[in-house]
Amino acid sequence: MTSIFWHRRDLRIEDNAGLYKALSKSTSVTPIFIFDTTILDKLPKNDQRVIFIHQEIGRLKKEYRNLGSDLRVEYGIPTELIPAIAKEICATAVYTNRDYEPYAKKRDLALFETLKNSGIAFIGTKDHVIFEKDEVLKNDGGPYTVFTPYSRKWKDSLNDYFLKSYPTERYSASLTKQKQNDCISLDAMGFSSEQHVEFPAKVFPTQIIKEYTEKRDFPAISSTSKLGLHLRFGTISIRALARVAVKSNETFLNELIWRDFYQMIIHHFPHSASDAFRPIYDRIPWEHNEAHYNAWCEGKTGYPLVDAGMRELNATGFMHNRVRMVVASFLSKHLLLDWRLGEAYFAEKLLDYDLASNVGGWQWAAGCGCDAAPYFRVFNPHSQQEKFDKEFIYTRKWVPEFGTPAYPQPIVEHSFARLRAIERYKTALNEQ
Ligand SMILES: Cc1cc2nc3c(=O)[nH]c(=O)nc-3n(C[C@H](O)[C@H](O)[C@H](O)COP(=O)(O)OP(=O)(O)OC[C@H]3O[C@@H](n4cnc5c(N)ncnc54)[C@H](O)[C@@H]3O)c2cc1C
Repeated sequence: MTSIFWHRRDLRIEDNAGLYKALSKSTSVTPIFIFDTTILDKLPKNDQRVIFIHQEIGRLKKEYRNLGSDLRVEYGIPTELIPAIAKEICATAVYTNRDYEPYAKKRDLALFETLKNSGIAFIGTKDHVIFEKDEVLKNDGGPYTVFTPYSRKWKDSLNDYFLKSYPTERYSASLTKQKQNDCISLDAMGFSSEQHVEFPAKVFPTQIIKEYTEKRDFPAISSTSKLGLHLRFGTISIRALARVAVKSNETFLNELIWRDFYQMIIHHFPHSASDAFRPIYDRIPWEHNEAHYNAWCEGKTGYPLVDAGMRELNATGFMHNRVRMVVASFLSKHLLLDWRLGEAYFAEKLLDYDLASNVGGWQWAAGCGCDAAPYFRVFNPHSQQEKFDKEFIYTRKWVPEFGTPAYPQPIVEHSFARLRAIERYKTALNEQ
């Protein structure tokens, strides 16, 4: 049987569940990757993630060639390209790993229908998460919307089966032997190849995981894995990471569970990709203040921890989790700007940007998410600074003019902003 394996969020051969299934069930598998114009057309032309993907596709191509095969790389619209390639090589099945974002689900459903009409199977597999869709549900059969009971059930449901590795190398003889096309250049797709940021290395974070509980909240030390980018594009297997976390650090495991949780939320509640999970929060009348928004983006709010975080993001495409919480709370509460503005800015800048986790994090901070902090709890940027960057080491790294006359005065006063936010939220939520 001839089939196609379509790589998407899973840019690796080893321990790839969908690829394993395709190889074990077929005699000839053509692996493909598509630079999807529907997605690319919306991105800035110097998008650093496109450079990362392009590099990883080059690596993947080499790995397939070392196995006597090749990765076919296309540029265009997947719902048109996949059926055409399937027809060209007489494939009877197309395999892929499932993606839970609303755009991906819609695209996959359309593709499923088109392929079905031509007698071709479209087969999805779970690979991106440990538990998907309906595997961790409340006792009444509904999806969880609160993290703590979800994580408890997640841990109770876990056994070796969910963490096992998929030894794709065992079936590498099933890969097509045909040489495929060369990879399209970034230039030909209209993207710049100028790399402005360093991509976090794919290093297994054994030591970091060990010390994670004590160190993870301090942005001045390199105490988190920085694997978000690799998990997002599947250059590392979530099962491989979870296997280590389960054995060595529950705090780290909990973070991986948050990732599963948000994937499950976006799957069950697709409206939350653009609207507040709790619709009543969409009544809040936001401020429209371009000067405040620009000061936030540029890291010039006069709040050192906020400014350091935004400048770290602008310079590296990364921001420490603790600081993400602080800057998100600052935008949505202190400045009372619509959380969607911040979400969109992160979406443009974060290397590890992932719709489900980003929307989840933003709605958590703005108070409108599924398991959000109550609206009246407003992060105090000064006490966050005191707790997590007391010596201003992280702050000075990113804001060198801090403490000099060149550093801006606060754009809003903390006590005023806190009371204004609580009042605004309270009034909007109590309106009939
Ligand atoms: C406002 C806001 C926006 C965010 N946007 C994103 C985003 O676009 N993409 C993203 O992957 N994470 C996002 N997060 C979650 C978290 O900040 C990042 O996953 C983490 O900082 C990435 O750094 P790391 O890889 O060193 O994480 P580590 O601390 O080493 O954690 C390991 C992995 O666990 C997962 N993880 C950790 N914390 C969370 C969390 N709270 N929610 C979901 N997954 C988590 C990530 O995949 C991460 O790579 C956001 C958080 C907030 C508050």
